[in-house]
Amino acid sequence: MRMPNPRSAWTTLISLLLVAAPCSAGAAQARWEFVVGLEPAQEILTVRGCSAQAQALVRLRAGSQALPYLKSLTRGGQQTLRPDARGVRVNDWQAGECFEARIDLKSAGLADRYRIGRGKDYWRVSPALWFWRPRRLNPESTLEFRLPAGWSESVPWTPIGESQRYRLGATPDDWPAQTAFGRFDETLIDLPGGRLRVAILPLVDASRRQSVMDWFKDTAPVLLASDGQVPLPDTQVLIVPLPGVSEPVPWGQVSRGGAAAVALFVGADAGSEAWRQDWTTAHELAHLQHPFLGSRGRWLAEGLASYYQYVWRARTGQFSATEGWRRLDAGFKRGRAVGSGPPLAELGRGWGGTMRVYWAGAAYWLESDIALRQHGSSLDAVLGAFRRQHLPSERNWPPEDFITALDAEVPQAGLLARYQRYASDREFPDLRDSYRALGLKIGQINDEEMPANPLRDSIMKQR
Ligand SMILES: [Zn+2]
Repeated sequence: MRMPNPRSAWTTLISLLLVAAPCSAGAAQARWEFVVGLEPAQEILTVRGCSAQAQALVRLRAGSQALPYLKSLTRGGQQTLRPDARGVRVNDWQAGECFEARIDLKSAGLADRYRIGRGKDYWRVSPALWFWRPRRLNPESTLEFRLPAGWSESVPWTPIGESQRYRLGATPDDWPAQTAFGRFDETLIDLPGGRLRVAILPLVDASRRQSVMDWFKDTAPVLLASDGQVPLPDTQVLIVPLPGVSEPVPWGQVSRGGAAAVALFVGADAGSEAWRQDWTTAHELAHLQHPFLGSRGRWLAEGLASYYQYVWRARTGQFSATEGWRRLDAGFKRGRAVGSGPPLAELGRGWGGTMRVYWAGAAYWLESDIALRQHGSSLDAVLGAFRRQHLPSERNWPPEDFITALDAEVPQAGLLARYQRYASDREFPDLRDSYRALGLKIGQINDEEMPANPLRDSIMKQR
């Protein structure tokens, strides 16, 4: 072991102090350039990271499960680095120096518990398993993919121009994300306000992939049903078609690492009509309207997506307004059936509380939408104002901060006070006053029981 000389000990101490100090300005962090390569025949992914800035200490790491898939990690092309599960600390990084990580893509793909992490012409592997990087870096750092001809990437980061270079952004490196590499084309769907980059993994033949793409292109404009604008300028959509599965969309999720991104697992045998009638896609796309709200804000996030999954589809004519109310009413019934329990903000993913999280959350947004409309605004309008000021957002929003920002648009609508009441409530909310305002009866949604009501029509009627 080499004893540190006094000067480098000081450098280390100073750099430790710098790392320990609260660091809000990303500009203080070094900028890195990453180049990702793929050797399809060997099933090896390489990540080369370089920085023009000298740094006293660099802590390289990937996700906590990444180590078994790392074949080698070298510095400057010769020095072997030996990380443990928490990564490796590297001292005296020289200006212009590079590291290179080689990842066993085959075993990383095989680790997928649903066995769809690897196929003949693709790998779907979380960046937590392959993306070795300094824990802290400048958000303007870039990632470039240099893949062989015919191979593409599907990644959440924001593209720079039309290149295969992406801006890394400021989201923490432990936020989940989805990445895939393979023989597929990314299809751009341009809509007012933004575009979707859609990749369909080659798990089924080309004609089946084409029908999935046709369906998704028809479905995506549901995003415009609030105020005609897509919530985000650029969004990765990764579609995994599941051969032999006839449930239309058994699973979907939005991840936030790199940027907000949508993953949809689509039953390849369901067919266009079943895909069209499924609610999951509208639900996931509706999540793009809010920033990451953490576990305390989960009920707000799931509630917002559950509310809009029906409102948007009624507005775009996928079913009638009456049917939209019937489905919301049925959701509230499922939430009510859970009975009382812990305060809404403390409800995790356990037991039957899920239905309360989703539908008490949706009730919050319905009641807020009603109050906003009674004061000349709407939920669409305040979310639009939030989007213009704050999206895309690369940080965690405590739920009260999100609601405070919405509340500021129309304070008379009481969004913040209602939030506080709901978050601490142990019961499903009493919606009788809201139903009365809408001219609806709980559990009896049919055209005969619904006298004309402009408030109700302003929410659900086709536009
Ligand atoms: Zn959801």
